Amino acid sequence: MTTTNIAQRYQTLLHSIIDAERRFSRVQGSVALLGVSKKQPMEKLQAGYDAGLRLMGENYLQEAQDKMPQLPKDIEWHFIGHCQSNKAKAVAENFAWCHTVDSLKLATRLAKASVASQKQLSICLQVNIENEPTKSGISLDSLPALAEKVAELRGLSLRGLMCIPTPCEDEVQSRRVFARLWRAQEDLIDRGHNLDTLSMGMSHDYEAAIAEGATLIRVGSALFGERQ
Ligand SMILES: *Cc1c(COP(=O)(O)O)cnc(C)c1O
Repeated sequence: MTTTNIAQRYQTLLHSIIDAERRFSRVQGSVALLGVSKKQPMEKLQAGYDAGLRLMGENYLQEAQDKMPQLPKDIEWHFIGHCQSNKAKAVAENFAWCHTVDSLKLATRLAKASVASQKQLSICLQVNIENEPTKSGISLDSLPALAEKVAELRGLSLRGLMCIPTPCEDEVQSRRVFARLWRAQEDLIDRGHNLDTLSMGMSHDYEAAIAEGATLIRVGSALFGERQ
């Protein structure tokens, strides 16, 4: 795929988001696009930037640290990969967001590093909605207790929830899973948490996610093409 295609795909995606907001009675402009640039070459990231993309998501710390200095400073970087506690400091220092917080230990380390670098890191708690043993993320059952502890940590701003459902062709099933994350978010809001972000939906299922309340969709291949 050429870099010109990326500008076209970016526009197509923006239109598709607006269309989905309309179809599913979402507030216009309530869904943001995070471009997932893992394993994509620099010229594609630059093309995304040139097309107007300002939110970029990376999964691997080293790869992200190599790319960041090569791009303009006004990009908001989101860490969306699995974050080991020993990487927490670097993640807190280099990213504006971390979507994959799934333990108090990790949250505490991110908080400590954020305070040390005098910043406020926005985070999402990653939820393993389908309770798959091999997947990261906390269970719905343990979510309220973790949210309560994380919300108290200085240096972190608990913004919402994130999930990565098993890839699924069935839109009804996808929507069911996304709806459960939305409900969990509503439950936390009822408990007094001030949350504004539901990070859910990828290239193949973002419309289902928008239907169920996503505010931030994470799109990789539909924007940048197949990964290397
Ligand atoms: C890779 C990745 C994406 C993007 O996936 P696509 O199917 O290419 O859109 C989104 N979220 C996470 C957590 C990812 O790891």
